[in-house]
Amino acid sequence: MHIGIAGAGLLGRLLALQLSSAGHRVEVFDAATGPGPRELSGTEGAAWTAAGMLSPVAELDRGNEDVFRLGLRSCELWPEITSTLGVGTVCHFDGSLLVAHRADVGAAQRAVGLLEAKADAQHQPQALTPEILRALEPSIQGPSMAWLLPCEGYVEVHNTMQGLHAQGERQSVQWHWGRPVQQADAGVLKVAMQGGVESMRFDHVFDVRGVGARPQLPVRGVRGEVFLLHAPDVDLRRPLRLMHPRHSVYVVPRPDHYFVVGASEIESEDRSPVSLRTTLELLSAAHSALPGLVEARVIHTESNLRPALPDNLPVLSTGAGCTRINGLYRHGWLLAPALVERALKALSL
Ligand SMILES: Cc1cc2nc3c(=O)[nH]c(=O)nc-3n(C[C@H](O)[C@H](O)[C@H](O)COP(=O)(O)OP(=O)(O)OC[C@H]3O[C@@H](n4cnc5c(N)ncnc54)[C@H](O)[C@@H]3O)c2cc1C
Repeated sequence: MHIGIAGAGLLGRLLALQLSSAGHRVEVFDAATGPGPRELSGTEGAAWTAAGMLSPVAELDRGNEDVFRLGLRSCELWPEITSTLGVGTVCHFDGSLLVAHRADVGAAQRAVGLLEAKADAQHQPQALTPEILRALEPSIQGPSMAWLLPCEGYVEVHNTMQGLHAQGERQSVQWHWGRPVQQADAGVLKVAMQGGVESMRFDHVFDVRGVGARPQLPVRGVRGEVFLLHAPDVDLRRPLRLMHPRHSVYVVPRPDHYFVVGASEIESEDRSPVSLRTTLELLSAAHSALPGLVEARVIHTESNLRPALPDNLPVLSTGAGCTRINGLYRHGWLLAPALVERALKALSL
């Protein structure tokens, strides 16, 4: 089949890879001026900014049973997918940690109780003694309670996004950059070109434009801000979430002692630079759990928009000639492979 994909973000790249592997002829259109990261398009995909945590259990604080099941399935799929990209090991599954300071233990226990009630018996949070926590992650100092979520991990997002693009190219995917799609309908993409709009016909189209799918979907952007730090004195193997009544803060490792600290969650489509308030709140909270971050260098800060639907749940709608996937919100890396698998099964592609 001849397939048209609107959006070359996370979903668009995964779809292109799977569909071209299955022998289809695939063309992908994106508003960004190139494969990224950091194209000057004003539409840069949320995928580039994400911390890449794969947290089916921790995300149960907001997600439902379907998000949990899709997340577990994606955790199985990511190692398979990334092993075909020629980018080395970019998925890591050593578990993730929830930690809390003494003053916040009551709120943390309530939050963990909610996860225990929603997760199945196989995926329960495991309480850690201070000794075990120290043995697992010596750089964590200060929190008095900790839980391990053994099935969780993270993916290195930049290497994966670049690897998906390069592998698509090797599989003859045609990437069209700087080509915003104005409308996606059954078998047709209306693609902006100099001086007008071109209607392009396909056997099937996928609309995966994230926040850019408006007005065809009631999607909104939820602002998130992150920091990239370099701290040669800090060792951290697992993503760490500090359970704090006011801030939701996490630290996710990257190779060579780099760390992503995130993330604010603000109901605004403001893509302007990171605010002083977020800087103070997130970095102080991260430092309170990892004192070694005090000498870290702030390498980069970034803000972006998570694509979310009114109920904050993902949507996958398949009709004749057109499939839309959107609303991956704050767990797109967690959900995308399993949603793509579900979509392609439903279409027998
Ligand atoms: C700060 C932050 C932290 C996050 N952390 C995590 C995390 O730890 N774990 C996790 O699972 N998820 C996380 N996420 C969420 C995740 O990044 C998103 O859910 C995911 O990227 C959504 O994928 P997508 O393909 O739907 O959209 P995107 O990745 O946003 O891609 C959309 C693509 O469509 C293109 N586009 C837009 N408009 C048009 C148009 N008109 N025509 C053509 N192309 C267009 C864009 O240029 C872009 O390439 C985070 C997000 C943010 C912002």
